[in-house]
Amino acid sequence: MSFDVFNPVRIHFGNNATLTAGKIAKKYSNLAMIITGKTSMQKSGTLDRLVKILKDAGVNSIIYDKITPNPTIDEIDEAAGIAREKGAGLIIGLGGGSPLDSAKAIAVAAKGNIPVWDYLKTPAATALPVITIVSTSGTGSEVNRYSVMTNPKTKEKPGFGYECMYPKEAIIDPEIMTSMPPYVTAATGFDVFVHVLEAFTGKMRNAFSSAYCMQAFYLLKDNLIKAYNEPNNPEARGNMALASALAGLAIDLSGVGIIHALEHPVSGNYPNVAHGAGLAALTVESMKYNLEACKRDFMLIAHHLGVKRAGKSDDEYAYSLIEKIQEMLRAINLNIRLKDLGVEKDRLPRMAKEAFATMGFAAKNNPKDVDEKAALRLLELSY
Ligand code: NDP
Ligand code: MN
Repeated sequence: MSFDVFNPVRIHFGNNATLTAGKIAKKYSNLAMIITGKTSMQKSGTLDRLVKILKDAGVNSIIYDKITPNPTIDEIDEAAGIAREKGAGLIIGLGGGSPLDSAKAIAVAAKGNIPVWDYLKTPAATALPVITIVSTSGTGSEVNRYSVMTNPKTKEKPGFGYECMYPKEAIIDPEIMTSMPPYVTAATGFDVFVHVLEAFTGKMRNAFSSAYCMQAFYLLKDNLIKAYNEPNNPEARGNMALASALAGLAIDLSGVGIIHALEHPVSGNYPNVAHGAGLAALTVESMKYNLEACKRDFMLIAHHLGVKRAGKSDDEYAYSLIEKIQEMLRAINLNIRLKDLGVEKDRLPRMAKEAFATMGFAAKNNPKDVDEKAALRLLELSY
């Protein structure tokens, strides 16, 4: 067993932590570029508030608010061009995983002169400093180095991440998350579960990521469904925000597995599919596939999620985790299949191929070996 443990992101957690954004930004530059989506941060007033907080601290801002869910390389290259042209010294990602991932990719692309897609092959050594202000709980992008982007021409949706892409500081303000509608709470919250499931059971697991996962399972236990049913419950929102960050740290250390490898082709081919919804459709069959390889881990997770053992054999108790997850998915209205998401059946073979072409590192990390044939079978069973 050997591994490295590293994460340089300073985390500011708490309601109204956004108020500190000015002081934090000022450390890096007098000109920040804010990267956000098209609607939610405008509607909740968070974007205007942030611009004022920055201004009051003497930091001017340029706004790029055209990031779409499952962001494309065209948006990223366009924003990077503007950052370069205007001389932005800091990139602030404001929103869910899509604006945050974009912020990191823009920070890299703004420093160079090549399209962002080329950084998949050409490692980047420098990037503009990035601050993340996260509005979903979610991807964990606020605290990790990963960025996921879609090539709209080829439909490929790979993830990449270099050391220079770690955000310098992350502001986690659960208050901003209260405006998430139930569907976004459900999809992003389920993403947290799959992150810890895959980091906890994957081949690259280690004691440090497992510690993050255990606390995240414990937090997910009551709070995912509570946040879904009570959007303004501050405790549930706060605990889900913590779970998201812990899970983000866990996948930064130990990666994801086959569920993520299969999901990226789904939302890559169908950009209207929310990442968490794609995961929801794929999780149960993937867990059945991994069951034998993960028996002890599944028992432990079941215990953390409060499943009673009561006379069950080891096999039954491990399987009860799958039932627990199905129950959780029903409670948040995400008990869905790929066909419910508009996926066309004849695309499945192509998607099975793409899982390895663009997310091979994740497929390789899966606890049980998986090849293209097995991946196709999982897609068919999840259809
Ligand atoms: P998105 O950032 O795509 O946001 C989804 C939707 O929710 C958008 O319409 C957005 O609005 C809206 N929204 C966001 N926050 C709020 C809020 N507080 N109130 C109301 N509406 C809100 O969702 P995710 O966070 O799930 O990010 C998904 C992306 O992250 C995918 O591309 C996925 O592949 C990637 N990802 C990255 C990981 C990483 O480690 N870096 C890990 C897992 C996934 P608007 O459009 O206006 O912004
Ligand atoms: Mn994810």
